Amino acid sequence: MLELRGVHTYYGHIHALKGIDAVVPDGEIVALIGGNGAGKTTTLRTISGMLRPKQGSVLMQGKDISGIPAHQILQMGMSHVPEGRRIFPQLTVRENLEIGAHTVTDRKVIEERIQEGFTYFPRLKEREHQLGGTMSGGEQQMLAIARALMVNPKLLLLDEPSMGLSPLFVEAIFDIIVELNAKRGTTILLVEQNAQMALSVAKHAYVLQTGEVKLSGNAADIAEDESVRKAYLGED
Ligand code: ATP
Repeated sequence: MLELRGVHTYYGHIHALKGIDAVVPDGEIVALIGGNGAGKTTTLRTISGMLRPKQGSVLMQGKDISGIPAHQILQMGMSHVPEGRRIFPQLTVRENLEIGAHTVTDRKVIEERIQEGFTYFPRLKEREHQLGGTMSGGEQQMLAIARALMVNPKLLLLDEPSMGLSPLFVEAIFDIIVELNAKRGTTILLVEQNAQMALSVAKHAYVLQTGEVKLSGNAADIAEDESVRKAYLGED
C-alpha cells in the first residue's frame, strides 16, 4: 500500500527525517512509535503531502506521490487525522462530517457515509446536532476519525488518537481502529505515544529515534524488546 524510500524531510535547516525506509502492507495496521521529537508527526505529514521530502520518495500503491499536493493525495484514497484533531468547533457533528466529504459531489453517497460513520460511532449519532467544540476530547477524536472516513479512504493515517483521553476512551478508540481495519479493510498507519496500546493492535511496528528508524519488525517482538520496554513502555 505504502512505501517510504530513504525519506529526508527538513523544516528550514532542521533535519527532521534522516532517511526513513518503511513499508505499510495492504490491509494491515502498522504502528509508528518513538519519544518526543523523534519525527513521527513529520513522517505522517510527509506521507500525506503536507511536507515535501527533500530527498527520497513516498510510494502509494506503487505510484510515487512525493511532491504531489495534499488534496490530490486525499483523492487517491489517503486520509490523515492530524494530532490535536482539529475539528470545526463552531459547526455541528453533521456539518463537520459534511465538510469531510467536500470532495464528494453525490448527496446520496454523502448521506450513506454519514450513516456508515454512525454505525462505527453511535455516540456521534446521538450528538448529530451538537457543536463540535462542546464535545468531550474522546468524542472529538471519534468525530475526527469519522470525518476522515467520509472520503472512503484505503489508507488512514492516525496521529496520536489516544492523546489526552481517559483510559476508557483510549480503549474505545483502539477498539474502533481494530474494527475499521477488520470490517472495512482499511490500512492504518498509527502514530502513538501510547506504545503499549499501539503495539497490541499493530502487526508491524517501527521505532523512530531522532529522525531515524531505530528498530522495526513484528509488533509483538518489538513489544518484547528490552530497549523498547525501557524507553517506551515505562519499565526500568
Ligand atoms: P511528539 O511525539 O512530541 O509529537 P514527534 O515524534 O511527532 O514528536 P515531530 O513533531 O515530527 O516529532 O518533530 C520532529 C523534529 O522536527 C523535532 O525536532 C521538532 O522540534 C522538529 N519540528 C517539528 N515541527 C517543526 C516546525 N514546524 N518547525 C521546525 N521544526 C519542527
